Amino acid sequence: YNSTAAAAEEPITPPVTVPHTQLLINGKFVDAASGRTFQTLDPRTGELIANVAEGDAEDVNRAVAAARKAFDEGPWPRLPAFERQKILLKCADLVDKHNDEIAALETWDNGKPYEQAAKVEVPMFARLFRYYAGWADKIHGLTVPADGPYHVQTLHEPIGVAGQIIPWNFPLLMFAWKVGPALATGNTIVLKTAEQTPLSALYVARLFHEAGLPEGVLNIISGFGPTAGAALASHMDVDKLAFTGSTETGKIVLELGAKSNLKPVTLELGGKSPFIVCEDADVDQAVELAHFALFFNQGQCCCAGSRTFVHEKVYDEFVEKAKVRASRRSVGDPFKAGIEQGPQVDSEQFEKILKYIRSGVECGATLETGGERFGSKGYYVQPTVFSNVKDDMLIAKDEIFGPVQSILKFKDLNEVIKRSNATRYGLAAGVFTQNIDTANTLIRALRVGTVWVNTFDIFDAAIPFGGYKMSGHGREKGIYSLSNYLQVKAVVTPLKNPAW
Ligand code: NAD
Repeated sequence: YNSTAAAAEEPITPPVTVPHTQLLINGKFVDAASGRTFQTLDPRTGELIANVAEGDAEDVNRAVAAARKAFDEGPWPRLPAFERQKILLKCADLVDKHNDEIAALETWDNGKPYEQAAKVEVPMFARLFRYYAGWADKIHGLTVPADGPYHVQTLHEPIGVAGQIIPWNFPLLMFAWKVGPALATGNTIVLKTAEQTPLSALYVARLFHEAGLPEGVLNIISGFGPTAGAALASHMDVDKLAFTGSTETGKIVLELGAKSNLKPVTLELGGKSPFIVCEDADVDQAVELAHFALFFNQGQCCCAGSRTFVHEKVYDEFVEKAKVRASRRSVGDPFKAGIEQGPQVDSEQFEKILKYIRSGVECGATLETGGERFGSKGYYVQPTVFSNVKDDMLIAKDEIFGPVQSILKFKDLNEVIKRSNATRYGLAAGVFTQNIDTANTLIRALRVGTVWVNTFDIFDAAIPFGGYKMSGHGREKGIYSLSNYLQVKAVVTPLKNPAW
């Protein structure tokens, strides 16, 4: 890596100015009640992008009160479903129209390649809202054939005020996965963004109001976890909580939900997903897919294929090629065309990743390439590959959340199944084989919420996503996500003339 050349380059000026930095409560941008702000920083340089209103418990109270009123008295849950559908479709249209500004904000705040934000993530965001708009007028209960002279039906009703807490790795997509199903089913929302990436949510939420979303239906709080996040999780007037982030924080919010009003909680948490390269694999293709599975989004994916298991027959060739591929990965200013990898989101993640790399070296894994920071400013990390990784090393057990590939060798299928499942996580797995029997065995044996076979990171709106074990509770996206935001009411009326 030519770190000197990287250091000499000036960061490209982002093609956008920051439009909103206040909280969005009851349809209006407002300062925090305390008047406080916090800094959101450019991960390319560590320099200030903007000072953002810092919401805390008092702001959460105001936002929940607005969402409560919008739910209890406002038009949103009472609108004919096709009216809600029309508004959601308009939201998607406005997002399309402002695709490039939204993508630029996302890249500036998060560090992800602009091409990825503009060509994949913002279009996917709009697609998700069109998908959920499609559901809005297709949600209904059942007629139930019960014993006895009764007419029995179920009503599917919105659950009420949804509290939603999202992370910084996919600020827009996490917004869409949570807000989409909640709005389609007629709920109102208070969403807390991650403190590292508050900007894009404020922009799209403003567009949603332009599209006709009534005031109080979608409230956005920027702020920190232990203050704003905890206030939302423990609020007595929040009827449902959805959280994405670390397993540690997931435990905290689940407890806060239980200790307050027993609100149901869906959790999408960490992972240490296996990516299994079988003996029959075409090594070039396997290397490319395993590389993508780990390095995509600077390695900051909850489902990253972060344990690359390779069969001993192809292991040496795989390691050599994986090293070459990683050392060719283009790292640099995420606003530059053709860049595959930008900086990590902040100094905390950057330091944490470098610490894991040091631990890999100290434990005796072989550092094939990378291992250092990239350049001299900002939070760039060299694409790093370790071989000879053993199951009990920290780099094989913990979620690193960075561009660090750990390659492990295996001999047979039963062994790799056991080792793949020997983790507290169960989010996803990748399987690479041409043998249908091998694929079917792995598909059934792996205790994970998603198995990608000969592909990885496919996030279609209709495909459910979520974890087994300590990777979480519940499913987002797809038909399964709707039930997170619905109550089922059973209705029984006697039949006067049971003969008919
Ligand atoms: P985190 O879980 O602490 O943060 C996620 C969200 O939870 C943020 O909005 C944060 O403000 C909020 N939060 C934090 N503490 C809270 C509390 N006490 N009550 C309520 N809300 C709270 O994650 P992090 O500190 O940003 O990252 C730490 C690690 O988590 C990462 O290194 C990575 O391993 C993992 N992570 C996983 C995901 C994922 O998609 N599953 C996303 C981000 C981070």
